[in-house]
Amino acid sequence: MYIDSLRIKTGAILCTCFLMIFIWGCKSGSGRRIYQEAQIQMGTLAEIKLVAADEKSAGTAFEAVFSEVERIEKIASFQLSNSELGCINRAAGKGPVSVSPELLQIIQQATYYSGLTEGAFDITIGPLTKLWGFDTQNYQLPDPDEIQRRLTLLDYRAVIIKLKPPEVKLAKAGMSIDLGAIAKGYAVDRAVTVLKQYGISDAIVNLGGDIMAIGRKPDGRAWKIGIQHPREKERVLASLKINNQAVVTSGDYERFFFVQGERYHHILKPQTGWPAKECQSVTVIAQEALAADALATGVFILGPKKGLALIEGLKETEALIVNAAGEVSISSGLKDKLDFNQ
Ligand code: ADP
Ligand code: MG
Repeated sequence: MYIDSLRIKTGAILCTCFLMIFIWGCKSGSGRRIYQEAQIQMGTLAEIKLVAADEKSAGTAFEAVFSEVERIEKIASFQLSNSELGCINRAAGKGPVSVSPELLQIIQQATYYSGLTEGAFDITIGPLTKLWGFDTQNYQLPDPDEIQRRLTLLDYRAVIIKLKPPEVKLAKAGMSIDLGAIAKGYAVDRAVTVLKQYGISDAIVNLGGDIMAIGRKPDGRAWKIGIQHPREKERVLASLKINNQAVVTSGDYERFFFVQGERYHHILKPQTGWPAKECQSVTVIAQEALAADALATGVFILGPKKGLALIEGLKETEALIVNAAGEVSISSGLKDKLDFNQ
């Protein structure tokens, strides 16, 4: 392996943010190589490795994929007030808002996963995300009475969807949709679709821990990913080979703070407004990253018992759950696929 080039450029959306880009090639018998590029996108590190015949075709594919992720951020961001989602949120309690069929479809899929997880996954969590400061870096322990008041604003069934023409209305003033638990997954699915459109059939996309791999490495070996240990940052808990699958992890170690020895993190129980406590991390493997993203968050809140039962009932879907005590449980279809010898 050797480094082909090192470039630094400034991002369009996060204009103050430096984007580190580097491409390297990995020699193989066929002449095709792995090219890699990383940028800050959707507030996280987006890394793409793809197999291409030359730097030019790799570069074209990278450009297309990163602009696709940027496009999705402009539609679905909870933080960017001028996003399409921001328009829906601003109109809460007022009239319906016309939306793109794409945003409507993401919201529709989100409500499907709310039903599947008995409301554990709920994109109307917005008022609580804001109260805790998890939409910014300004985390704070909220007043319990204020949590209680805002709970009345949470209900995925109060997201009123009209298909033709596409419209969304939030029934109550003060409600807001936060797609933070599903938008990255959707972006990964779109990234893979765009890569395929550019003739790339072997690649791995990693958007802040939401991963999807297609095809293989140039030497014919499968892409291998490591599942992070929830309490030891540098340690890989288990590794797994994937092909045409998404692997997404939700953990209490992503955005959190401590008050008097107690950990408070960003995955909130819609029924109580407080962080879910039964798991340290949940990894879901599925055919699509959107599904894996929604389920990882939902199962995290449901807890190991209910969560594993849900996963066992879903086709081509597997999970690894680390409970609050650090014990690991694994769905039946995943047992012989994990390598714990790290
Ligand atoms: P990460 O963003 O770290 O990959 P998740 O996919 O689990 O992790 O998403 C967590 C984010 O989802 C939170 O920061 C918040 O924006 C939102 N969220 C928190 N609780 C819920 C919930 N119960 N249902 C849906 N979204 C949630
Ligand atoms: Mg998620």
